[in-house]
Amino acid sequence: MPRTPAGEHAGGDNRRVHPINADLHSHSNVSDGTLAPAEVAARAAARGVGLWALTDHDELGGLDEARETALALGMGWLAGVEVSVSYADESVHIVGLGVDPADTALRSGLAATRAGRRERALAMAASLARAGIVGAFEGALAYAGNPDLVSRTHFGRFLVERGICADTAAVFRRYLTPGKPGYVEHRWARLRDAVRWITGAGGVAVIAHPARYARLTPAAEHALITEFVAHGGRGIEVVTSAHGAAERARYADKAREFGLLASRGSDFHSPGESRVDLGALPALPTDLTPVWQALAQRIVWPDAPVPATRRPVHPAHPAHPAHPAHPAARSASPAALT
Ligand code: AMP
Ligand code: MN
Ligand code: MN
Ligand code: MN
Repeated sequence: MPRTPAGEHAGGDNRRVHPINADLHSHSNVSDGTLAPAEVAARAAARGVGLWALTDHDELGGLDEARETALALGMGWLAGVEVSVSYADESVHIVGLGVDPADTALRSGLAATRAGRRERALAMAASLARAGIVGAFEGALAYAGNPDLVSRTHFGRFLVERGICADTAAVFRRYLTPGKPGYVEHRWARLRDAVRWITGAGGVAVIAHPARYARLTPAAEHALITEFVAHGGRGIEVVTSAHGAAERARYADKAREFGLLASRGSDFHSPGESRVDLGALPALPTDLTPVWQALAQRIVWPDAPVPATRRPVHPAHPAHPAHPAHPAARSASPAALT
């Protein structure tokens, strides 16, 4: 399929400033998406994404497949993850970009974060059963591509299948959210640990979809960002499917106020459920620094580096610039990544 131009930059033609169609937040069926990692990669490439990150919830298991497909299809690649955090009675998500998936502290931290999901799912099913909906644990599990990662999204799909709600958005309105049947409080990772795991693994920590934390007052939100920065967090999602124009403006201001890098990601989960498809997002405001600029050394570009044995013995002669499209040259050049 021909690649669409990066014309999804709907926020005005500032492609000379932020020329790459980066989508740095998406899910596969390794967490609560419906497509396999390779299928998400193919969809991103077909929609003109030039730099992509898979960011499954609390899981790194899809990254090898995603990376291989991304590079084969010509996309730049960043390893990613979305860590579930409990902060002031709210579930806050911290995206890690450019992490080393082999990092042992990151891996064990994520394993600990995943550990309580099965018990939580059983408690959710018990709560739904009291509301007259039986068999929800087995029903949700049938939707989970990864039995270690049963999520509210899988319960949502089961309740839609049962005809209890028309779509997953309605499920979350009537069930699965605080005060509603099926909601069970859960203790996720601590903010400081999530940021430490990500930065310790060489990545950049980013506050995901900040407008979604309805339980945070403006003061609590300010405290969240302040603590996040104090722990070493560096980025915030400004452009994401959860944000309309007002939220994009609000969090662009937060990025300016706190000196944060700005990220852009669809949070794509499924062709049938996600309102915003991969890569189909407005551009970042041009005065903000895109998070991918700070990740130049962590991006893997599709062209394999020229093996040392095939490099010219002598330094490149000015008349023969060595490998002008060489990935190392590209990632070393800030101009190519603005
Ligand atoms: P969990 O990690 O099990 O608490 O599930 C959280 C996931 O539920 C998020 O990553 C979203 O994919 C999904 N979700 C949360 N709120 C909503 C909502 N209002 N509508 C649809 N999906 C939602
Ligand atoms: Mn999700
Ligand atoms: Mn999230
Ligand atoms: Mn997400």
